[in-house]
Amino acid sequence: MITTALYYLDTTGIPTSISHLYEHLIISGFHTYLEKRGMSPYLFGYLHGETFDECIYLDLGCYSPDVAELLDEYLHETHHFEHEQIQNQFKVLEAEDMAHIAYNSSAIQTTLSKLDLEKWVHNDDIHIDEHDIYQNIDTDFIRSEDSDSFQDIVVALYSKELNEHEQKVFLRLYVIIIDMLEYWLRRRYSGYKRGASSINFDSTIMGVIASFTISNTFQCEEINKELNKFLANFDVNMNFGQIDTHFKVFASTPTFNNIAVEYYKNTGIHTSTNEIARLADNETIKSLFDKVRINVRPHDSQDNDIIF
Ligand SMILES: [Zn+2]
Repeated sequence: MITTALYYLDTTGIPTSISHLYEHLIISGFHTYLEKRGMSPYLFGYLHGETFDECIYLDLGCYSPDVAELLDEYLHETHHFEHEQIQNQFKVLEAEDMAHIAYNSSAIQTTLSKLDLEKWVHNDDIHIDEHDIYQNIDTDFIRSEDSDSFQDIVVALYSKELNEHEQKVFLRLYVIIIDMLEYWLRRRYSGYKRGASSINFDSTIMGVIASFTISNTFQCEEINKELNKFLANFDVNMNFGQIDTHFKVFASTPTFNNIAVEYYKNTGIHTSTNEIARLADNETIKSLFDKVRINVRPHDSQDNDIIF
């Protein structure tokens, strides 16, 4: 079964922009925390955050229950964010908001440290208690719309050469690969993921597209080259343990059962989560990584019809 956890942080009195930055820092900090413990920061499942005016929610879904324990441990630690980490996350925020953000670094450090004293509450234990919330601090966080400095790009992940077994495994493997690409685009290009399409199969090409916002100082050709290199260098043998866990949990989580209907609707392929997991052995995954290609291009308005 997939393990889930939901956390809540009361941020009353903190400017929403700083809370949003904090949400990003906590998530990227957790990725590093996993890496230091020998776990892949993109194969564990997902950790999504959403920031509102007075709170942040963190939503975890993971294939190994150990990750949920690690998140709990990590959230209860004191976090110190280096200037460089803050800068990197500002770049992602800029792509997310398509805006330029000017900020006073030391004022932000102070607010972040104060925010870090607040306790994350596991969703099962939510109660609103009395605590010291300091007043809204002016942090010199100035945001100016600047959509001309950003571009939306589309990353297509596809293959023309899959055999029948590989096609079935690709129905789930693409989720893992899109997570990898999202992680990598965020780290390397401060890219922000907007959404992805369903998987599609037109009898020759099987594939999926995802859209991202990035600074327009980067060229699609360059990103294309880098992403293909990243995929080609991915070591399946080394990561097979986590991929295997992903597929086993996928097959044993009842809420995934009816995904077979989606698969049939979008691709015409009849299968089940159990069959997919059974076929997803090391050899097949390796062969899929060899056969899958990436193409990066500018986003066009028709893409909006299929990306959600
Ligand atoms: Zn965000």
